[in-house]
Amino acid sequence: MSNKKPNILLVYTGGTIGMVKDFKTGTLKTFNFNNLLKRIPELELLDCDINTVSLEEPIDSSNINPTYWVKISEIIEQHYDYFDGFVVLHGSDTMSYTASALSFMLENLKKPVVFTGAQLPIGDLRTDARENLITSIQVASLQENDAPLIQEVCLYFENKLYRGNRTTKINAENFQAFKSFNYPELAESGVHLKVNEKYLWRSKTDAPFKLHKNLDTNIALIKLYPGISEAVISSILKTPNLKAVILETFGAGNSSTASWFINLLSTAIENGIHIINVTQCLGGSVIMGHYETSNQLKRIGVISGNDITTEAALGKLMFLLGKDVSDNQFKMRFETPICGELT
Ligand code: ASP
Repeated sequence: MSNKKPNILLVYTGGTIGMVKDFKTGTLKTFNFNNLLKRIPELELLDCDINTVSLEEPIDSSNINPTYWVKISEIIEQHYDYFDGFVVLHGSDTMSYTASALSFMLENLKKPVVFTGAQLPIGDLRTDARENLITSIQVASLQENDAPLIQEVCLYFENKLYRGNRTTKINAENFQAFKSFNYPELAESGVHLKVNEKYLWRSKTDAPFKLHKNLDTNIALIKLYPGISEAVISSILKTPNLKAVILETFGAGNSSTASWFINLLSTAIENGIHIINVTQCLGGSVIMGHYETSNQLKRIGVISGNDITTEAALGKLMFLLGKDVSDNQFKMRFETPICGELT
């Protein structure tokens, strides 16, 4: 066994964790990342070496988009061989989207990429940033037989480590801001750090790490609601260059059976637009054909999202569309798990 300390790279992208209050306006804005490390001297006590890198202009994560996903994953790619683990500091608002997208982009990942952030800025007396950051670094440093124990993109927040592409932000107020409804926690931090090893992702291949940067954003997200009009659905389906739609349906994947609705979807599918059925429910799964109200969706060729989150479905769609998967392979590819995002 080697005595070398794990080498961890902290990637700062922005978010509350590194924000300060503007005294004049009272609003939170981003500040220089170097100050963040000065504010947590405890980092020196951790049993690992820490290096830091920051986006040139840190952002509030509500401004995130696929261009930033590429930037963050390029930082990981450039440093992949020199570090044992990565901790990405990111605003909590869209953290689940970024963690989900990166889980597809970073193929054959054999090292941890742990996303974390905070509900209160690091300078606040009651901040949750300190614990989130310190434990995330510890998680990223875990080793077994000289290899990283965690080998996937995950998200650590308020004592829990989750698979990143299974998470959803569920609370804008509580420190417990995230949840993974359809997959168990990977680890829990109490007096001891307990890792649920049987739930950890293990790639089945020895193929080298590969970054996929081509993401296709020609997609739309439609959340169904009682009373949604034909005009709304039809105008979205007429979006130029549209290639796929995530349909957020009711319960176990159910929708209206109105003929105008089914006909619009059916025509879109005939025209090569992929329609993905993802439930609006936070937990549970789409089972097309279980109710009469999803039978027609199944019949016209809607793709099942099974128990995927909307966040992961968006990332997976952009990733698969960016890979030019053929039309007759697309349904099978979407319904097959890539990195533990669906059961
Ligand atoms: N608005 C902030 C962001 O997502 C909130 C946070 O950091 O938690 O960047």
